[in-house]
Amino acid sequence: MERKVHVTPSGRTLVTLIPGDGIGPEVVAAARRIVEAAGAKIEWEERAAGASVFKQGIASGVPQDTIESIRRTRVVLKGPLETPVGFGEKSANVTLRKLFETYGNIRPVREFPGVKTPYSGRGVDLVVVRENVEDLYAGIEHMQTPGVAQCLKLISRKGSEKIIRLGFEVALAEGRKRVHCATKANIMKLTEGLMKRTFEAVAKEYPQIEAQHIIVDNCAHQLVKKPEQFDVIITTNMNGDILSDLTSALIGGLGFAPSANIGAEVAIFEAVHGSAPKYAGKNVINPTAVVLSAVLMLRHIGEMAAAAAIEHGVLSTLEDGILMRDVVGDSGAAASTTAFTDAVIQRLGKKPKSAKVRDYRPLTLPTVSSDPDFVKTSRRRVVGVDVFVESSLPVEQLGRSVGELVTGSPVDLKMVESRGTKIYPATGAMTDTVDHYRCRLMQRAADGDLTEAQVLDVVARVGAKHRWMHVEKLNEFDGVPGFTKAQGED
Ligand code: NAD
Repeated sequence: MERKVHVTPSGRTLVTLIPGDGIGPEVVAAARRIVEAAGAKIEWEERAAGASVFKQGIASGVPQDTIESIRRTRVVLKGPLETPVGFGEKSANVTLRKLFETYGNIRPVREFPGVKTPYSGRGVDLVVVRENVEDLYAGIEHMQTPGVAQCLKLISRKGSEKIIRLGFEVALAEGRKRVHCATKANIMKLTEGLMKRTFEAVAKEYPQIEAQHIIVDNCAHQLVKKPEQFDVIITTNMNGDILSDLTSALIGGLGFAPSANIGAEVAIFEAVHGSAPKYAGKNVINPTAVVLSAVLMLRHIGEMAAAAAIEHGVLSTLEDGILMRDVVGDSGAAASTTAFTDAVIQRLGKKPKSAKVRDYRPLTLPTVSSDPDFVKTSRRRVVGVDVFVESSLPVEQLGRSVGELVTGSPVDLKMVESRGTKIYPATGAMTDTVDHYRCRLMQRAADGDLTEAQVLDVVARVGAKHRWMHVEKLNEFDGVPGFTKAQGED
């Protein structure tokens, strides 16, 4: 897919630069100096987002002027933005990711010379490719009863395909041989399972790359035990959030962890770390993470030579033992942010003595159809209804009552469950109940298709005596049930 960037008549690529909050302005200034010294043809548009914007009363933390700049430039280098706690505003970071549908979060980590960790010498060098907009992070939450909360986990076939293709393309661009997909498909067969099935289908198109599914908890275990076995890990949003913080700890911490948020239209480059307010203005913070984020940005806009010069400069600086407080502590040996930046500038393009450098090709952005009706079915029918009710009745009484209420309708009560476990008709399970039940009502006719009126009638019948708060149609698509069974349901 064609990369969208804005090149000025003088041949410079426009980039929106957001200094951000706390330590942001210092580390972003360091990255800017280094990028300019490397000779990259960039014209910056400096814009605001984050704390200063919240203070002006803009609840999203991102002013219109910044949004317009990003629409124009399509490329952003940003510092961390503080997320206000406790007064209702949304995270400006999440706003930016969602506004520009940056569906892929790429987080590379590698061993750095001189940065001692328990893993030093093992050659950790991997990339986490995290889905960035779906999953539990869609933020669709409800209190279903006063005491029971729900968060919807939404995973789409299209969203999965986009992130999986991006992951394989990252592997190709970086000459990597192996891609893992980490999911919890063994438990969440439909949501995490959709990511797994999509991975298995898409992997066939990349026969040159070894593709392997791994259960996410085992992936975490393996990452701590033997991280050098991983090359690229593609994963869902929540899994990726957790795994990528783990992987940044393998190589020396947040000061060294860059990231790219990739969308079809816009790409946003930033360090993984936050605004670390207690270090703001002290000239002690490690700018490497944002400098390496700028390297990812330079590759994105095709400035491969400047990107390589900076990567070499950073590695040579570290090889020469120029390290900061986050590695060497508060001893007199720690370089300041500005001294470290100067050292990188002096070493731009200097080949590291021993640290390995990859040969990068530009990343090909995947093309995935923009059709909203992405998966077609030839046959579909509604085979039942799940009605969720709030009730303080003993479950035997609730079950009998719901069964009686639907007598004469096309459905029978198949079961009542509590938080995923069938408890009516009684199974002997020792389930501790709360005031939240799901009544599964299945149509009697084996091949029928419930009409809208019949579904609404079933809900009205149950609702006549019980407080319902959620209804889910039970669909069958091309003969395959689009719902899972409760624990203990046959
Ligand atoms: P943080 O990453 O800001 O800081 C945690 C600690 O990590 C710091 O105290 C420091 O010891 C260390 N650290 C972070 N960056 C470093 C660097 N470059 N060099 C050396 N050490 C570094 O995390 P936090 O304290 O949880 O969050 C502070 C604020 O940042 C919050 O408002 C949070 O919402 C925000 N945040 C923003 C982003 C983003 O903009 N993408 C990401 C994470 C957190």
